[in-house]
Amino acid sequence: MGRCEGCQEEETVEHVVLRCGGYSAYRQILRERLKELGVKEFTLKSILGLGSKAQLRVLVSFLKDTGIYWRVWVVADPYSRTVGGGNAPLSRSPTTVKL
Ligand SMILES: [Zn+2]
Repeated sequence: MGRCEGCQEEETVEHVVLRCGGYSAYRQILRERLKELGVKEFTLKSILGLGSKAQLRVLVSFLKDTGIYWRVWVVADPYSRTVGGGNAPLSRSPTTVKL
């Protein structure tokens, strides 16, 4: 995992989801939608707890809107890099990606 493009912090899921200033507009949307789903705490644990499919969808759309999904969760997968382009079926489910 590399550095965040905007602020040169280490680009972890925690950074982009909770802290990075560059994604604050997206984070606002994520927060509102999670609140509608009954997620009261805005912490990594409660967000990634993925209590429901609806919550997972909200999180994935946040990751796609921000571009994180493609860079961190797909591109950073060493397997998909060796086969190139990510067209091959993922060898691991996203939940095994180190957060
Ligand atoms: Zn950042």
